Amino acid sequence: MRPVTLRTRYGTALVVSGPSGTGKTSVCKKLLGRDESLHFSVSCTTRPARQGEEDGKDYYFLSRDEFTQRIREGAFIEFAEVHGNYYGTLRREVEQYVLNGEDVLLDIDVQGAREIRNEIFNTVLGYCTVYAYVGPPSFDEMERRLRGRGTDDEEVIARRLENAVNELKAWREYDYMVINDDLDEAVANLNSILKAAQFMTARYSVSPWQQNSEE
Ligand code: 5GP
Repeated sequence: MRPVTLRTRYGTALVVSGPSGTGKTSVCKKLLGRDESLHFSVSCTTRPARQGEEDGKDYYFLSRDEFTQRIREGAFIEFAEVHGNYYGTLRREVEQYVLNGEDVLLDIDVQGAREIRNEIFNTVLGYCTVYAYVGPPSFDEMERRLRGRGTDDEEVIARRLENAVNELKAWREYDYMVINDDLDEAVANLNSILKAAQFMTARYSVSPWQQNSEE
């Protein structure tokens, strides 16, 4: 039996969504930290960088003009307005990994995930993408975590809560549910989802025993 080469095997795109206040970002960061072969899809955004964030690592920070230019060029698989700012996923960012047999994590909101699902339906990328929802253990806990950030005024919190409640309604659109009660457990569960996804038959462009034509 010939060994399977990377060229016959695609990577996995793991889309992770969930309302603010679920600890989704912490879960994603921790998984990325423990699995060096997992890449992060760096999105474009028009929101200003927060303290400690790096351009090209956390986001590509763009002006509105630069962002709309990218829209015109068709560079995004999806883009959405979240909390008054634009966010978008670059097609090349995801494809460069998946088509090369590598895995990539996308931390995007519910609207973005919906758009991606439609955009890549029935394509190689579509077969290689799985959707996981990170949910809070309870509504009260989500509110507590949202307030716990402490930096925002009531109006901002109220808007976040309203968004969060709307985002919660979308849970059924996802393949997997990870309740973030205990951070380490949530990370382990998301990792299991990724591992299982790596073994889907859809990852093979040809049968694992067939030689690639270029070999
Ligand atoms: P933050 O500004 O806190 O980094 O992110 C705010 C929200 O935007 C989060 O829910 C995050 O998942 C979402 N987000 C980040 N990047 C993208 C993207 O490329 N597309 C979409 N649709 N949402 C994104």
